[in-house]
Amino acid sequence: MNLVLLGPPGAGKGTQATRICQEFSLRHLSSGDILRAERKAMTDLGRQAQDYMDRGVLVPDDLILSMMMDHIGRPDAGSGFLLDGFPRTEVQARGLDDRLAAAGRRIDHVIDIQVSDEEVARRITGRWSCAKDGRVYHETFSPPRQAGVCDDCGEKLIRRKDDEPEVVRQRLRTYHEQTAPLASYYRQKGLLRPVDGELGADRVFAEICRICRVG
Ligand code: AMP
Repeated sequence: MNLVLLGPPGAGKGTQATRICQEFSLRHLSSGDILRAERKAMTDLGRQAQDYMDRGVLVPDDLILSMMMDHIGRPDAGSGFLLDGFPRTEVQARGLDDRLAAAGRRIDHVIDIQVSDEEVARRITGRWSCAKDGRVYHETFSPPRQAGVCDDCGEKLIRRKDDEPEVVRQRLRTYHEQTAPLASYYRQKGLLRPVDGELGADRVFAEICRICRVG
């Protein structure tokens, strides 16, 4: 089974993605995580992407498409994958479809986690992550045992540059302009499965499992 997870930043895609991949033995491919790893490793791609990422705007389609197709083509994604954060534009979605079709593969479901802008802002601006291992906390929903310190490794918690309030507003604008039209693209293909992302993580997960099992 191959899935796409849609939803604004802060919709809980990361949390759901981890659980779905465990449940259905899928490879989790998060474009944001892959880009951050490339940036940390200071690869050419990472350097090219850095400025776009810090401003909260999208990295060019051709860069992302070839990066993601490379990961999709790896053996560990051979029995199924979940795409998180990609595709983000209709150009990316069409490029993905064409390349998958050429390899005799396809997307089975597009899970669209729906969350209002107000809720997104509330969730993201309270988010802190560990500078060392990347573990994510939230001031209100999942605070660390000691404020500002990672439970696992004791490292200081930082706010991701693109989680700053002004950048979050820009990311939401970008989402509405470029990503929301993807929903109609996938609706036309009969693949779109909307899920209410404000129900709470367990109910959202249960709903996604139901969708995937119905087939
Ligand atoms: P994310 O963690 O998914 O919010 O991604 C962080 C940043 O990486 C975004 O604000 C973009 O700059 C870049 N990015 C991630 N995925 C994509 C994509 N599919 N297309 C273009 N840029 C992306």
